Amino acid sequence: MKTAFVYTDAYLDYDYGPTHPLRIIRLKLTYDLIRAYELLDLPSVQFIPTIKAEEEDLAAFHSKEYLNILKQANAGRLTGSTFCFGLGPGDNPIFPGLYDLSLLATGATLQAVDFVADGRGEIAFNIAGGLHHAMQSRASGFCYINDPVIGIMRLLSRGKRVAYIDIDAHHGDGVQRAFYGTNRVLTISLHETGHTLFPGTGFEYEIGEGEGEGYAVNLPFPHDTNDDVYVWAFEEVVPELIHAFQPDVVVTQLGVDTFYNDPLTNLHLSILGYERVLKRIKDLAPRWVALGGGGYNISNVARAWTLAWAVMNGIELKEDLPKSFSEEAEKMGVEERELRGSLRTPLHGQNKENRMEMERVVHYVKETVFPKVKR
Ligand SMILES: [Zn+2]
Repeated sequence: MKTAFVYTDAYLDYDYGPTHPLRIIRLKLTYDLIRAYELLDLPSVQFIPTIKAEEEDLAAFHSKEYLNILKQANAGRLTGSTFCFGLGPGDNPIFPGLYDLSLLATGATLQAVDFVADGRGEIAFNIAGGLHHAMQSRASGFCYINDPVIGIMRLLSRGKRVAYIDIDAHHGDGVQRAFYGTNRVLTISLHETGHTLFPGTGFEYEIGEGEGEGYAVNLPFPHDTNDDVYVWAFEEVVPELIHAFQPDVVVTQLGVDTFYNDPLTNLHLSILGYERVLKRIKDLAPRWVALGGGGYNISNVARAWTLAWAVMNGIELKEDLPKSFSEEAEKMGVEERELRGSLRTPLHGQNKENRMEMERVVHYVKETVFPKVKR
């Protein structure tokens, strides 16, 4: 089996700002840890340096008017009203090069897509992608350009059937919206309920419309949901839908903000639950385009995506982090010395109310969606 890792240090030229939770350094830390484990030296692995997307790639989904605004904002400032485009102080700041960074992150997703669609290999991973909240004409939730949507559209144009699985703690609203009316893409999002977390959508009764009815699937989890409940619901719903839909390619958004110690969210997963879900996705996906996503504890991000890359390549890693990485990472405030380490904390049982709530949700999904999803 052949795999590809798409990356460039050029991401580090950009910065959302000193107080913004999305820190670009997490990408570099992940790359460094993957390299320290020598996971790019495997004979089956191809390293692909990121190349920027073209404007016409972005225009496949985003409006011209919005892209023009982003291009103006690329200078780091913007005159006039940006309110309706979602830009400004807060979640989606205007910073120098924001359009260039978007071209890079989207370019990497398209490179991953082409690697898989060309048949050059089975799995490709772009840790800088997964910006699932961006809308057609609006930035949202730290996302300016929706690379998962653009990547999926490229796959559709190449005649592929696509299932999208989003395991970020936040609902994959931008991707769901883009394909809400079609049965050519099956979107499945597992996330913290919109009652307690941005973007406030992703309820089980959002199932698609028209031809797309049944092809949008949502599993909203109550806060404090642990591995047991999460993995149980995943197993009840995802494998059967993938078997029924029979995608050519599975695209995943692998946000790592579901862990109990993520500063922005309230789910209670450990890295063991994350690992189980990844291994299952690997079994289910005939071809796999893996994208990054959220994750606001940078030590978690580097370790969880390194583990994800190891799973994609069928490698078991030793638990002690390579010394060369630990020394460098410590300078950036990462003190953890083990791969799973504190993220291993098993939080089993005692989730009775959450389990009951998810039994209700799973039952609803089985009743409404399962009979509709077909090849
Ligand atoms: Zn998130």
